Amino acid sequence: MKIVRKQYKFCYSCMKEHEVSYVQIEQHVKYLNDWVRYDAIYEYCGETDCLSEDTKMLGENDTAMKDAYRKQKGLMTSTEIKALRKQYQISQAELASILGWGAKTITRYETYQVQDAAHDNILKRLQQDPQWFMELLAKRQDVMAHRRYMKYYNAACEMCSKQKNRYTEKMMHTLYLEKQVNKMDAGNTNLDIDKVEEMLNYIASKEVAALYLLKMSKLLWYADCLHYKRNQQSITGLAYRMHQLGVMPIGYEYLTTLSGVNCVDQEVGDGISHLFLSVEKFVPKHLTQQEVQCIDQVVERFQSISNQELSEKMTRESAVQNTQLNEIVSYEYADSLSIA
Ligand SMILES: [Zn+2]
Repeated sequence: MKIVRKQYKFCYSCMKEHEVSYVQIEQHVKYLNDWVRYDAIYEYCGETDCLSEDTKMLGENDTAMKDAYRKQKGLMTSTEIKALRKQYQISQAELASILGWGAKTITRYETYQVQDAAHDNILKRLQQDPQWFMELLAKRQDVMAHRRYMKYYNAACEMCSKQKNRYTEKMMHTLYLEKQVNKMDAGNTNLDIDKVEEMLNYIASKEVAALYLLKMSKLLWYADCLHYKRNQQSITGLAYRMHQLGVMPIGYEYLTTLSGVNCVDQEVGDGISHLFLSVEKFVPKHLTQQEVQCIDQVVERFQSISNQELSEKMTRESAVQNTQLNEIVSYEYADSLSIA
């Protein structure tokens, strides 16, 4: 019997006010021909040595049992179904109506009723396929208030964007494996695409002259390196390589395609250059204060100089001096970075 919390209250077991313990007890019950193990929560009265549960606890314990059963059967749990619905920012009744189910179906699935395999498959598809949700939503457009339709539509769009970035993350991980990039090459940090995206947007939100991919790459490197110098960890988990045109992140071609980044292609001479622009109403959510400080310091120092000048400054960095063409630029040289 594990005590989860205690509360001073009126106890219905002994009919007195005292400190009541809430305890967690492992239960084994048979449900639909299967044995299920789950943790139930009860009130415990030390006076009478009795366990009890009120209506709310009864419901929660029942859901805990059914969630344990669902897990055993590989079905989505009530929590997962709730989370799925939250992603689309939709009510229980409205989601049920989009799926052509009875109005209370989702409400029941989020509590006491275990969904059958067919409904479970539909919910799982919804979890992975926001485009399919959009198709279903479009069929209900005529009978739905426009404001609500747009709310769900936008939520689905946001899910699509996130999926696109997860895909990019996978591609970059594959690239790192191919190029045998180890964790130290990436500044002792796992690649974090959300942070990469945020750092790109954060830098783009500053007044940086001609923020093309080449210059952006150098600023990323400086900020990652500076943070490594101070904390033995890079910000983004990006690994950098020495190119003809200077230091570039490995997989730099993916940076311009991230869903939340505002990057436009511009014809420059014979080729195309990628220009980073600021994103409206951008607020950083993933970057820590220390990380922001590093980026600010780098941007302040280099924002008004050209890529050419920045390249020249970089050639004086020992990391650049000690790295051959096509080699990975090691974070080991961060200690001697020209920014303190
Ligand atoms: Zn009592």
